[in-house]
Amino acid sequence: MQQFSRRNFIATAGIAAGASLLKGCSLGNPPSPTSMSPKADTMSLSPATTPEVTSVKLGYIAIAESAPLIIAKEKGFFDRHGMFDVTVSKQASWGAARDNIEIGSSGGGIDGGQWQMPMPQLISEGLITKGGRKIPMLSMAQLSTQGNGIAVASQHTGKGFGPDLSGAADYIKGLKEAGTPFKAAYTFPRVNQDFWIRYWLAAGGVDPNKHVDLIAVPAAQTVASMRTGSMDGFSTGDPWPSRIMRDKRKFGFMAVLTAQIWPAHPEEYFAMREEWVNKHPKAAKAILKGIMEAQIWCDDPKNRVEMAAILGQRKYFNVPSDLLVGPYVGEYTLGDRREVVKNEAYAIRYWKDARGSVSYPYKSHDLWFLTESVRWGFLPQSALDNADRIINAVSGEKYWREAAQELGIAAADIPKSTSRGIERFFDGAEFNPEKPKAYLDSLRIKNLKA
Ligand code: CA
Repeated sequence: MQQFSRRNFIATAGIAAGASLLKGCSLGNPPSPTSMSPKADTMSLSPATTPEVTSVKLGYIAIAESAPLIIAKEKGFFDRHGMFDVTVSKQASWGAARDNIEIGSSGGGIDGGQWQMPMPQLISEGLITKGGRKIPMLSMAQLSTQGNGIAVASQHTGKGFGPDLSGAADYIKGLKEAGTPFKAAYTFPRVNQDFWIRYWLAAGGVDPNKHVDLIAVPAAQTVASMRTGSMDGFSTGDPWPSRIMRDKRKFGFMAVLTAQIWPAHPEEYFAMREEWVNKHPKAAKAILKGIMEAQIWCDDPKNRVEMAAILGQRKYFNVPSDLLVGPYVGEYTLGDRREVVKNEAYAIRYWKDARGSVSYPYKSHDLWFLTESVRWGFLPQSALDNADRIINAVSGEKYWREAAQELGIAAADIPKSTSRGIERFFDGAEFNPEKPKAYLDSLRIKNLKA
């Protein structure tokens, strides 16, 4: 990103001072230009790129997926694009984030932030909001790929819980028949974690609707819930799966990494209220540019130790920073007498992965989440007939492209298509975005609703 550094210092300082004074007007507390930290290495802003407002409130969940938002704030990447007053606000749970986007920052909530998929679509359609209220959202960037895992309680050690679950299928079915069903948890129903755990169970011949009990547990409570025995397995983001392996009480082990289930799988997204974006399109792109620069920074190996130290702070994840280093290099202790996995290919990625762009929000991935929602009966099969409408209404990919161009991202790093093409899973299944119904037909375990 050398081309943006300290270009024309005088002009830059002038803009930073002007923006600071502008900020002072609204807050009545003008910081002097000299108080701008050296990190506020502001890009030259033109009338076409100067944001309409300098403040916004973005929600995040204390898991590794949120790193680009926290790093953009802490390393001054939002400031560089004139967004001097970004608040990154920790959300107690996905349900709290959903409630806060519903009220918006004017009501004490948030304007946007981090989401599991397809929460932006579900909120836009009024399917998970209070009273079915539709809050149109725009999904404008993907924050990360990979970096999640499924943990299983120690009492199930030696029963065949691994990436391929088929050896444990009869054991799991037996637990249900005995009246002590395997309780599998996700952090919010009908989104990523629910999909990962269902996909893994079904691939191993376990029907998530018949053979286990599925429950929702907030990410921050997953470890405690497993320790107290109120759940048998859970799916969540780093660093929580790794945390159980670190615990001396040895109450759980890692059955599978999501990167093993679906290499380079889409994970969490950045989305905002559409109303806010329509009112402040330049500010929305400034936020996106800050996020993109943060994503590039996060993927640079030389920044990982600093990143772990920033994220581990009490105000953010409140965990020992060394707990975060493993996931960043793809090193996971699995337990259940299996080896330590040390493979960079399993690490969480923020900007680029083995399939290309991480940050760009592919419509083909929106379609997979929609198709998987149909697979489990969360949405009727007719949702696939309306897929284009549902996806296009929420896709903010055009903002991503404009922001990437304004930032000077190399053409090679800007996807040519809104589709990433065919996706391949660990059990041999294939998702061709051109033929979502063929994917559904190929899956043995499903729960389609008319
Ligand atoms: Ca996640």
